Amino acid sequence: MPNSESGEDPLTKKDAFRDDKDISFWDGIARSELRIKKCNACGIVLSPGALFCSECWSGELTAIKASGRGMVHSFVVYHRAFSENETPPYNVAIIALEEGPRIVSVVDGSDRLQVGNIVEAVWLSTPAQCPALRFAVVDDTGRKKEN
Ligand SMILES: [Zn+2]
Repeated sequence: MPNSESGEDPLTKKDAFRDDKDISFWDGIARSELRIKKCNACGIVLSPGALFCSECWSGELTAIKASGRGMVHSFVVYHRAFSENETPPYNVAIIALEEGPRIVSVVDGSDRLQVGNIVEAVWLSTPAQCPALRFAVVDDTGRKKEN
């Protein structure tokens, strides 16, 4: 029986990317919230998919709501669509969240994306999926200087 513990929300049930290993993350996505984990034992903040603490190995983690802001750590430009929601070319970035963890996401709307750009979570509604998490550039003054 698929994911009966999370309530069978019809929006999230259709999401092909949903992973039952991290129900709190996907329940957050369905509510347009980015949820990450915090270790109850040592207080470190972890990525959304963490199942145990990488510092103290505790399995006692609590899901917390992230600010949704971060900085582009690295990125690539996809020239083929790996999702029906995307039209190539599009940016896929490693984003260092304000809270510390890094996540991978699409960054919308910039053909001049740079490492150091400040980005913020935005939510795309799609008929076939729950809200899709992506990011948009809100401050590009942190871009690297070209010499
Ligand atoms: Zn810990």
